[in-house]
Amino acid sequence: MGAKYKRILLKLSGEALAGEKKIGLDYEIINTLGKSIKKVVDAGVEVGIVVGGGNFWRGRSSGAMDRTRADHIGMLATAMNALAVADGLENCGMEVRVQTAISMPQVAEPYIRNKAMRHFEKGRVCIFGCGTGNPFFSTDTAAALRAAEIEADIFLKATMVDGVYDKDPHKYSDAVKYDTLTFNEVLEKGLQVMDSTAAALCKDNNIPVLVFDLARPDNIYDACMGENVGTLVSA
Ligand code: UDP
Repeated sequence: MGAKYKRILLKLSGEALAGEKKIGLDYEIINTLGKSIKKVVDAGVEVGIVVGGGNFWRGRSSGAMDRTRADHIGMLATAMNALAVADGLENCGMEVRVQTAISMPQVAEPYIRNKAMRHFEKGRVCIFGCGTGNPFFSTDTAAALRAAEIEADIFLKATMVDGVYDKDPHKYSDAVKYDTLTFNEVLEKGLQVMDSTAAALCKDNNIPVLVFDLARPDNIYDACMGENVGTLVSA
């Protein structure tokens, strides 16, 4: 069976990389993730990854600290995650490059879109660190931006819930999961799919978003094969 998508942008939140520990990195999770991403790469899919940083730091919850400075720390946190994921994927037999939106040439390549495209052509996974490189943005917005730039066929948003619900499924037992949604419905109903900047970017650039649970790692592969493993948001 062939893959449905030629190129994907996978967003991994910091929380997902921390697993049960909630903070720092869980190498077992990264290793499991690596195995399922390898299946995707072996199926001929080009993979770009944007990593979050919430397992180390979130600018918006840094109390009295100047927001710009707090966000700089947050972006550096994503760089740490990018390096850790790169290492995990390499151990699973993939060729990987890390590109960062804030230059740190001793550590990683700077983000250059055309260079990233060349990596994809060669079958390399490209991990994008440091978000957009700007404070006041999120890594979801960075993922939407990179998805647009690399012309990804889909934005795969790996989360800790198995899709988008009409209300918080952890709080309400009668919460109902959506199989599909339009961006207008997301915005009208105020559904917590992603922040509004990211949602607007996806909507304006016609990038479908599939929200799914990373607890089942094979979801990444199944999603690439065209299965709706969570909630699909499109125009
Ligand atoms: N961040 C930023 N600009 C960006 C992306 C991220 O300043 O373009 C900072 C921000 O402080 C954010 C932190 O990096 O809180 C970690 O990213 P995010 O909260 O999106 O991570 P996630 O929740 O996905 O783990």
